[in-house]
Amino acid sequence: MPILINNITKRYSGAHTNALNHVSLSCDVGVFGLLGPNGAGKTTLMRILATLITPTSGSATIQGFSVLEQPQKIRPIIGYVPQEYTLYPSLTAREFLHYMGTLSGLQKPYAQIEQVIDQVGLAQAANQRLKSFSGGMKQRVVIAQALLHNPPVLLVDEPTAGLDPAERVRFRNLLSELGRERTVLLSTHIVE
Ligand code: ADP
Repeated sequence: MPILINNITKRYSGAHTNALNHVSLSCDVGVFGLLGPNGAGKTTLMRILATLITPTSGSATIQGFSVLEQPQKIRPIIGYVPQEYTLYPSLTAREFLHYMGTLSGLQKPYAQIEQVIDQVGLAQAANQRLKSFSGGMKQRVVIAQALLHNPPVLLVDEPTAGLDPAERVRFRNLLSELGRERTVLLSTHIVE
């Protein structure tokens, strides 16, 4: 199973209640949503899966690797799009992808860059500076960045929060497409 979460509890230090309370779930290939109001614990669960924080108790595996014991095995097989991110406004989309690909250890990622630009539908805008991008286009850039190493698991935190209704529909379609051959786990507080 791509994602297996077993009885995870998380209490942040100093907190009086659990951010996550005995959560268990599994995700196969396809698109899966974590739906809940702000404060429900969606980001906490995503960050545990992305090996950025550890649970207080319980365990989780991605493609059989333990988030607690084998984080270095997990990072190459996931793409993670956090709720908030920083783009360098004076770089073009293509330059940004090259920079991020290089930082994540890809050697000469030219072919991968062209592939992800195509995948997320950014071909027309790839040589424009990021400061001129709309919210929806920026989301495409960060998704493209998370796809550069072609991970089988994609974690996307609140992807449609800042998007207008038309962009939301386009974005949903993109995620369904990506979920055809990989696991896409997205969090949202928007029921539709
Ligand atoms: P969601 O993503 O569903 O909005 P979060 O995972 O961000 O929920 O938050 C779940 C709970 O954990 C909230 O009560 C929040 O205040 C708390 N929380 C989140 N991050 C921290 C942190 N770093 N330290 C302490 N409490 C936190």
